[in-house]
Amino acid sequence: KIPVNLSNYPKESLQKFFDDFDVIFTDCDGVLIKENSVIDSSNLLINKFLENGKKVFMVSNNNQTTRDDLLKKCQNLNFNFTIDNIFTSSSITGMYLKSLNFNKKAYVIGSEELGEELTKFGIEHIGIGRDDMSDTYGEYMMNNYKLYEDVGAVIVGLDKFFNIPKMLKAMNYLKNPEILFLATNVDVRSEFPNLIFPDAGPIVASIEKASYRKATVIGKPSSILFDLLKLKSDKERILMIGDRLSVDIAFGKNSGIKTMLVETGDDKMENVGEILRKIEENEENLIPDYVVKSLGLFL
Ligand code: PLP
Ligand code: CA
Repeated sequence: KIPVNLSNYPKESLQKFFDDFDVIFTDCDGVLIKENSVIDSSNLLINKFLENGKKVFMVSNNNQTTRDDLLKKCQNLNFNFTIDNIFTSSSITGMYLKSLNFNKKAYVIGSEELGEELTKFGIEHIGIGRDDMSDTYGEYMMNNYKLYEDVGAVIVGLDKFFNIPKMLKAMNYLKNPEILFLATNVDVRSEFPNLIFPDAGPIVASIEKASYRKATVIGKPSSILFDLLKLKSDKERILMIGDRLSVDIAFGKNSGIKTMLVETGDDKMENVGEILRKIEENEENLIPDYVVKSLGLFL
């Protein structure tokens, strides 16, 4: 199914477009905000949704920030959000474990901010920060390192201190099939004009390879957040807006809701041929219902 291209629609029909939706999920980076600025007055559109009583959920896979700091950033950019409008892959990980009544410790490969979010949801954890066992790697570690018995989950996100001792610990915990293996997100990279940065995806992949296990992905494209929210609205009246097909559009598809690609971020759908090729590759999950150049067109 070919997406509806809204970019050339008349203003009057675009202004009514969102009347069909009661709940709006949106990505953050590439849709609402780029680095530290608002994209095409997206804050005005979001504030209109909020004034009209729509439920709005901004879902970011970025786990290098806490939910509170992301809220502050949005408020400074004049989005009328409260904490209930904002989710990150880290906070969803905490919510998810809490929903399972998880009461053991988690061994975490990830950022300080991920640790803070887990603590907020009452999840005890170890592992965050520099792991200096690389200095004693090998025989000393073999004789002196003991796994904690009360660990019930390994959680993996983006960790700038990721190293071989951390991998060793994760794979040894994961030998026990009862220990959960969660990935906050599996985005591969963050792209900037002068440099690309690795995200959590390559770290998760290396631990999957080392442990012979598959991680449960918590952030987008997993529908875990959608399921946890237990929304009452008809799924036809719920929309996900995003800039990455494999992350945001797949989140919408996995949740069974409507999807819109906005071409202000990573992915663009310049021609139908590319879309048809995706369908042939059996990636219908990545084809959005709607495509639009910018959210600014709705204002
Ligand atoms: N992960 C990292 C480390 C990031 O810096 C970003 C964007 O800033 C993302 C993921 C993607 O975030 P979002 O899901 O809001 O596009
Ligand atoms: Ca994005």
